[in-house]
Amino acid sequence: MTVTPTKREFEYIVIGLGGLGSGAAYWLARRAGAEVLGLEQFALGHDNGASEDHSRIIRLSYHTPAYVELARDAYAAWRAVEEDGDERLLVISGGLDLWPRDAAIPMSDYTESMDAQGVPYERLDADEIRAVGRSFVLRTMSWGSTKPRAVSSPRARAMRCTSAWRVATARPSSRTRP
Ligand SMILES: Cc1cc2nc3c(=O)[nH]c(=O)nc-3n(C[C@H](O)[C@H](O)[C@H](O)COP(=O)(O)OP(=O)(O)OC[C@H]3O[C@@H](n4cnc5c(N)ncnc54)[C@H](O)[C@@H]3O)c2cc1C
Repeated sequence: MTVTPTKREFEYIVIGLGGLGSGAAYWLARRAGAEVLGLEQFALGHDNGASEDHSRIIRLSYHTPAYVELARDAYAAWRAVEEDGDERLLVISGGLDLWPRDAAIPMSDYTESMDAQGVPYERLDADEIRAVGRSFVLRTMSWGSTKPRAVSSPRARAMRCTSAWRVATARPSSRTRP
């Protein structure tokens, strides 16, 4: 869709409306209203970028407490966008992370980070993982961890998320400043 703006000057201009640019434009518009202009070189929804796809994983399993905290904030932010657009964007599921014996980032970095942030998980050895999923062949894996449902590894419906941001950004009701 090509839009010819009648307004000529903007406080904020976001160049590139993939997932990150659309998100930036959305949150800026909630603060700065119509002072935000988003520019995209292709038609919205094009598949030349990284964001237009069925799903992307976001999860609470990260190797530093700061990342875990950031991911937790992202869950809350997605819920706010869902409420704003009245559309379900996150699909919550459990998750299974696997580590080889000589992992570049050891599993303990992840479990300690989740411990620090109070994220519950289970720790499984290779035999227990095989029992969970018979199709796993784990000759080189030593440990894994699973997280209960509704705690980790939701999939964001990437295409819908990007589009929800754009739609909400254009809607005056989602702006705090006219
Ligand atoms: C196969 C795959 C799987 C992935 N899985 C995950 C995952 O599970 N979890 C996760 O968190 N991340 C995942 N990622 C990464 C994630 O998808 C990307 O980090 C994210 O989508 C990047 O968003 P973006 O807005 O920066 O880039 P893009 O979506 O590529 O958007 C950039 C936009 O900028 C526009 N643009 C560029 N230059 C200009 C210009 N000069 N003028 C106007 N417009 C311009 C482009 O046309 C494009 O629309 C995955 C990526 C891929 C490819």
